[in-house]
Amino acid sequence: MRIVILRLGHRIQRDQRITTHVGLTARAFGAEGMLLDSDDNGIEKSISEVLQRWGGSFYVRRITNWKREVKNWKDAGGKVLHLTMYGMNLPDVINEIPVENLLIVIGAEKVPPEIYGLADWNVAVGNQPHSEVAALAVVMDRLHAASGREPLKAEFSGGEIEIIPKRAGKEVKSK
Ligand code: SAM
Repeated sequence: MRIVILRLGHRIQRDQRITTHVGLTARAFGAEGMLLDSDDNGIEKSISEVLQRWGGSFYVRRITNWKREVKNWKDAGGKVLHLTMYGMNLPDVINEIPVENLLIVIGAEKVPPEIYGLADWNVAVGNQPHSEVAALAVVMDRLHAASGREPLKAEFSGGEIEIIPKRAGKEVKSK
């Protein structure tokens, strides 16, 4: 399985928190990394702090030319899924979508119209407006499930701490 996220249209002032949440959700659900169409270095910083404490090998790479990244991805044989409420509803296309070398594109502000033509699939997580974080979590979970995987059981190695699950209360262990 190899999934990378492309976050388009991140606005430095407005989207810091939600783009960080996109990255954290991508990491927690098994994506390899996130390409960030912005020169904001704050996202990389927050995510690398999480990696230090919680482990795993997720990366954030700032990019300056998203169209070139998409083209390179496709030239290397990868596929592109653009998450948009205007697309085909996820349950109707899930069986067509591979989890190997998949780039998942997520917008912040209105996305450039070219992405609709460049994507192999324009996919809606229900055809109603909601959140990029919710859309990403659901699509990642459904993609894993379609290929018989359980993303919520993933292990994250190399961190400083880990949670010991409890029915009540909190327990965190140093590694
Ligand atoms: N206001 C923007 C516009 O008019 O295009 C969209 C903002 S929306 C909160 C940001 C991103 O969330 C979208 O680019 C899309 O990737 C994702 N998103 C929101 N609702 C979605 C849905 N129902 N299905 C799939 N993705 C969705």
